[in-house]
Amino acid sequence: MTTIHNLGFPRVGAKRELKFALESYWKGESSQDALKEIGAQLRKRHWANQAGLDLVPVGDFAFYDQVLDMSFTLGNLPERVRGFHGDALDNYFRVARGRSTQRTEAHASCCSGVAAGEMTKWFDTNYHYIVPEFTAATEFKLDATRLLEQLAEAKAQGVKAKPVIIGPVTYLALGKTKDHSDKQALLPRLLRVYSALLDTLAAQGVEWVQIDEPILVTELDANWQHAFNTAYHELKACKVKLLLATYFGQLKDNGYLAANLPVDGLHIDAVNGHEDVQPLINLLPPHKVLSLGVINGRNIWKTDLSAVLDWLQPIAPRLGERLWIAPSCSLLHVPVDLESEQKLDAEIKSWLAFALQKLDELRVLGKALREGRDVVKTELAANQAALAARRASSRVHNPAVKAAVAKVDATHGHRNSVYTERAAKQAALMKLPAYPTTTIGSFPQTAEIRHARNEYKAGRMDDASYRKAMQAEIARSVREQEALGLDVLVHGEAERNDMVEYFGEQLQGYAFSQFGWVQSYGSRCVKPPILFGDISRPTPMTVEWIKYAQSLTEKPMKGMLTGPVTILNWSFVRDDQPRSISCKQLALAIRDEVLDLERAGVRIIQIDEAALREGLPLRRAQWKEYLSWAIESFRICANGVEDETQIHTHMCYSEFNDIIASIAAMDADVITIETSRSDMELLDAFDSFNYPNEIGPGVYDIHSPNVPTQEHIVQLMQKAAKRIPAERLWINPDCGLKTRQWAEVIPALSNMVAAAKTLRAE
Ligand code: GLN
Ligand code: ZN
Repeated sequence: MTTIHNLGFPRVGAKRELKFALESYWKGESSQDALKEIGAQLRKRHWANQAGLDLVPVGDFAFYDQVLDMSFTLGNLPERVRGFHGDALDNYFRVARGRSTQRTEAHASCCSGVAAGEMTKWFDTNYHYIVPEFTAATEFKLDATRLLEQLAEAKAQGVKAKPVIIGPVTYLALGKTKDHSDKQALLPRLLRVYSALLDTLAAQGVEWVQIDEPILVTELDANWQHAFNTAYHELKACKVKLLLATYFGQLKDNGYLAANLPVDGLHIDAVNGHEDVQPLINLLPPHKVLSLGVINGRNIWKTDLSAVLDWLQPIAPRLGERLWIAPSCSLLHVPVDLESEQKLDAEIKSWLAFALQKLDELRVLGKALREGRDVVKTELAANQAALAARRASSRVHNPAVKAAVAKVDATHGHRNSVYTERAAKQAALMKLPAYPTTTIGSFPQTAEIRHARNEYKAGRMDDASYRKAMQAEIARSVREQEALGLDVLVHGEAERNDMVEYFGEQLQGYAFSQFGWVQSYGSRCVKPPILFGDISRPTPMTVEWIKYAQSLTEKPMKGMLTGPVTILNWSFVRDDQPRSISCKQLALAIRDEVLDLERAGVRIIQIDEAALREGLPLRRAQWKEYLSWAIESFRICANGVEDETQIHTHMCYSEFNDIIASIAAMDADVITIETSRSDMELLDAFDSFNYPNEIGPGVYDIHSPNVPTQEHIVQLMQKAAKRIPAERLWINPDCGLKTRQWAEVIPALSNMVAAAKTLRAE
């Protein structure tokens, strides 16, 4: 009989209960007991949601991050947070956020802030984890309290518990050494604690433990492959059964290694790694369980249940009891419940499945495999009907858009002249000083702006009053920028809630959920828009706002757009066509906007590609293909303009070394980047590549309320000028200013403008 199980459940709650509980606790408005109580309630509800599964994950709940939880379980907390007052949870938040709660104000002198742990993206998802820190001296020490408590809770609730932990090799691979020592040397020490942990779980009567090793879907060198063998030969002695779980991609040449590690079962992502399945069935020793992740845990579409059964049913007899099925990965990366959606278009809703619906799909598949398709024929028929409707829907397919994409040729992506010729024409037209100053787009999103937007969205404010309110904000930011003496102005983005949602709402082919939240980090959640159909732009999206802003000033006003790659990477995307096609459709839609702005007299247009690097595939071998269509999409969108029109792009913090050729191929006249925290070292990549166009290296960190001094900015720009010829440098902050207060922005920008004057005088 086929076993059905789940790898992990979204922990924040259908109504983001955990987010609100955390934030209230951090503000000191509620007690630790109250927070713990919310955690327990959420776990209880989520286990109930998973009823009917043969094995249910326990330990996937975390107050902030599952990797940080693992660090605490392994006793690996940074030296700097030891020795404070408070308990383990206080220390946990100290690592996560640099401080615990305001309760420690009583301990202001002894327990003040510490540097938070570094945060980075969890594989190719938009989830961020706290990076484990190592030194040569790192010792590990088991603290299984959290896991044991959750296990006891689960048992008391009659849950068929399968504890979930991160495997030792992935844990090591994701961490960073702080002293340049060799982290692999820590493996023996680490394994002793893992053995103790597994023995502790065995003593609780646990049969199966899910041990996550997603690092197996990336390229591993011989040392890391060896680490896998060492680790699992050591853990073999433990008295629990190990289900080694991989996800997010294909095992490819790690398949043999994964199949032959001495564990009791292997879970693979059968959606992204479909091609692994047949070879693995042949490779897998006959005693091992093979768990197939057949339901996509990364998107929000209904699964084609009949298609899954068509390929599972011939496999099932071969594997017998050894066949398990599950979602492809933890459901952490999808929203909780489609049923919460009240406003989503009914037709589109009928094509979707969030976490709870995905678990329903799993139950149907399990039943079909155990008792035959007939017992679930109603469910299968409904599923087929929904998928057929989606395939045929005119909401999804727009022949005009498909035809436009098919017609795209090389001319779309090429400017009329090379950069040097364009630059000369632009300089003659715009007459900007040396070291021109500008900002990245947004100005503070004040309480008044948010209030007006909420009133408007709730229907309590009419179009005209809303437009007036936003125009007043635009006028304010233009006034402030003129007073500051900036050279190239922006309108301030007051009318935008979010740089992707704002465009998605105006494009055809996009839908929005009310509660489709996905955890990004800690208490922060994002609500990715749903790209469901061919993309078109019925009417201009930004032109009126920019025209209005331009009408208020003689200075050049930058048009401000989000680029196709970023829109794509921050959305739930279609599973019925390649991402490259969706991206090109977006590129054509934004291109129309670029050309409309140009027609309206806007001579500088910035197209943000904040998430370009984020979209890189997990395996380097696939980078080239991604970069090729991503860069082409940007070029299609940006390069239809005349020589005199200056195209800017902006990227948030990125490593540029390994993608600099692609960045140069975008051929933007100006790129602004986040550099201040790297002390301009990020420019080395541009320097050694002889990057030919203009660059605005960010001169101050907008994430911090600190006001940069004029001297510091001058120094940074002098460092920049050592790498990039001064005549190709701009001066700007690291990123948009929407999260800051005007009281911080004004002195900071005023120092920035003063710095530019100093530099010009030299
Ligand atoms: N133009 C956007 C802003 O200023 C860019 C934001 C970003 O890069 N994340 O807010
Ligand atoms: Zn940015």
